[in-house]
Amino acid sequence: MSVKEKTILKGGEFLLSPTNPSDVFSPEDYTEEQNMFRSSIRDFLNKEIEPIKEKFDSKEGTTIAPQLLEKMGELGFHGIGVPTEYGGLNCDMKTELAYGEIASDSFAFSQAIGVHTGLGVYPILLYGTEAQKEKYLNDIVSAKIKCSYCLTEPGAGSDANSGKTKAVFSEDEKHFIVNGQKMWITNSGFADVFFVFCKIENDKNLSCLIIHKEWGVTLGAEEKKLGIHGSSTRQVFFENVKVPVENLLGERDKGFKIAMNALNAGRIKIAVANSGIGKRAFKLGVNYANQREQFGKKIAAFGAIKHKIAAMGCKLYALESSWNRAGHQIDEFYNELIESGVNKLEAKIKSVAEYSMECAITKVYGSEAESYIVDEALQIHGGMGFSAESEISTHYRNVRGNRIYEGTNEINRILIPTMLLRKAMKGELPFMQAAMSSFQELQSGLLTAPKNGPGTYDLAISFLENIKKASLLSSGLAAQYFQEKIKDQQEVLMSLADIMIQVYLFESTLLRTIKHKDVKNASIRKNMIDVLMFETADLLLKSTREVVFACSNQEQAISNLKGIQRLYQLPAINLKESRRAIANYFIDQNSYTI
Ligand SMILES: Cc1cc2nc3c(=O)[nH]c(=O)nc-3n(C[C@H](O)[C@H](O)[C@H](O)COP(=O)(O)OP(=O)(O)OC[C@H]3O[C@@H](n4cnc5c(N)ncnc54)[C@H](O)[C@@H]3O)c2cc1C
Repeated sequence: MSVKEKTILKGGEFLLSPTNPSDVFSPEDYTEEQNMFRSSIRDFLNKEIEPIKEKFDSKEGTTIAPQLLEKMGELGFHGIGVPTEYGGLNCDMKTELAYGEIASDSFAFSQAIGVHTGLGVYPILLYGTEAQKEKYLNDIVSAKIKCSYCLTEPGAGSDANSGKTKAVFSEDEKHFIVNGQKMWITNSGFADVFFVFCKIENDKNLSCLIIHKEWGVTLGAEEKKLGIHGSSTRQVFFENVKVPVENLLGERDKGFKIAMNALNAGRIKIAVANSGIGKRAFKLGVNYANQREQFGKKIAAFGAIKHKIAAMGCKLYALESSWNRAGHQIDEFYNELIESGVNKLEAKIKSVAEYSMECAITKVYGSEAESYIVDEALQIHGGMGFSAESEISTHYRNVRGNRIYEGTNEINRILIPTMLLRKAMKGELPFMQAAMSSFQELQSGLLTAPKNGPGTYDLAISFLENIKKASLLSSGLAAQYFQEKIKDQQEVLMSLADIMIQVYLFESTLLRTIKHKDVKNASIRKNMIDVLMFETADLLLKSTREVVFACSNQEQAISNLKGIQRLYQLPAINLKESRRAIANYFIDQNSYTI
C-alpha cells in the first residue's frame, strides 16, 4: 500500500487500487460544525421524541408526525443538504450523513423524516424546473408541504418499471388524467404532495408527476405492519386525477432515473440509520448486561455475553467506517466535478450515481448488521427482551423492513457485481486486466498467505491486498466462464457481492484504524481489526468456494480454490482474548463510544 498522493478512487475502484489512510473520513474527523448538527438534532429528539417514544410504536405516531416535521422544518433540519440559494444550509454529504445518524434514532418517526427529506426534497431540488423549485422547494424544506414517494404498486415491487399507473393527456392537452394504484407508501396518511411514478400514454418507461392530495387522491387504511407502527403506510389511489402538464418532474419517459437516483442516496442513508439504531440497541444490551445478575454475578461477566458484546461492537465499528468513507468519496468527487465546471445540481446527481455500488454495499451490510445487533441485544435481555413492553422488542420489529425497502437486499446484492462488470465492459475500470494479472499469479503458484511484519497492521494490510486479489479472481473467473449469461447466475452474483462487501468493509475499517492509530483506545481497535479480519476470512472461504465450484470443472476447481484460499490463511491469534478485551472496554463505557 505505497500510496503517496491523494487518492480519489472512482466508484468500484477500491477493488483494484489502494487508498491512502489519510484519504478516508471517519467520525474522528468530524468538524465542529458536524458535531454541532449532531448535538442540535439530539437535543431536538430528547425534547420532542424521547418523552413520547411509546406513541411511535402505535398508530398515534402517524398523527403526531406532521407537526413534528414542521417543527424540524422551522429549525432548518430538512434543508441540511440543500444549497443556500434554495433556502438550505448547503452542507456536504458527509455532514448530512453524520446528522442523519442521530436523526434516525427516533423510532418510527425516522421514516417520516427520511422519506420527507430524502425522497421529497431531493427529487424537486435535483430535477425540478426553476418554476417548480420556486413553487415547492421552500415549502417542502419548511415541511409546510409534506411529501410521499409513490413507486411501488401491488404488481410492481422490485420490478418497479412494470407499474400500471397511467397518465393520459386531457383533450386540451393541458392536463394529465391519472389512473392507478400505489402501495406501501410511507407518509401517505398526511402527505400534501405525492411524487408519483407512472407511464404517460403508451410510453415504455416511467415518468414522475407531482400530484397534490386535493386533486382527488384517495387513501387506503393504515397498513397493519410488523413494526414502525407510528409510520404512516397506506395504499394510494388515483381515479381520473387531473394533473397540470407542468407538474411533470424531469423529462417524460426518464422517471426511472429520478427514482433510482433517489434510491442510491436512500441506500447509504439506510446504512446511516442502521448505525444510529444499532448503537441504541447496543447500548440497551450493554446496559442490561451491566444490571442483570444471575448466579451471583452481573451477566456482563459471562464469556458468552462478552462474545456477543464484542461481535456487536465490531460490526458497529465497521459499519460507521464504511458509510462515513463512502459519504466522503461522494463529496470528493462532487468537488472534482465542480472544479471541472459542472453545475452544483448536476454534480450532486453525478457524484451519488458514481458511488452507487458503495451505496448498495453499505445498505446491505448495514441492514444485516443492524438486524444482528438488535437480535443479540434482545437475546441479552433474556425473557425481558421478549416482553412487548421492552424497548428492544420495538427495535426488533422496527428494523426488519430495512432489508426490504430501498431495493431488497437480494436486488442490491445482484446490483453490486453487476455494476462493477458494467463499468468494466464500458472500459471505465481496468477490471479484466487486474483480474488477468491475479490469474497469472494463481497459475504460477505465486499466491501466498498474508505476510506478517514488524508493524502493528502489517498482517492486516497484507490480508487486505490478498482479499482484493481473491475478489478479482472470483469475479474474473465468473465473468470469463459465464460471459453475458452471468446475469442468469444470481447465486454466483450474490456470492460475488458478499466478497465485495467484505472487502469494502474491511478496507474502510482498517484505513480508519491506521489513520487514527494513536488514539487512546488503539489497542481495542487493533483487537477489533483482528476479529473482523478472521470474520472476513471465514466469509470469503465460503463465498469464493461457491463461485469457484460454479465456474470450473472439478479438477480445475479444486486446484483454483487451493490457490485462492492461501490468500486468507491467517496465523493463530487468540480471538477469545481479543473479544474479551473489546467487550470489557464497552462494558466499562456502558455504550458504543469509541
Ligand atoms: C414499511 C414499508 C415502507 C415502504 N415505503 C415505500 C414508499 O414510501 N414508497 C414506495 O414506492 N415503496 C415503498 N415500499 C415498498 C418497497 O420498496 C417494496 O416492498 C420493495 O421494493 C420490494 O417489493 P415487493 O414488496 O413487491 O417485493 P417483491 O419484488 O415481490 O419481492 C419478493 C421477494 O422476491 C425477491 N425478488 C424480486 N425480484 C427478484 C429478482 N429479479 N431476483 C431475485 N430476487 C428477486 C425479493 O428480493 C424478495 O425477497 C415500502 C415497503 C415497506 C415494507
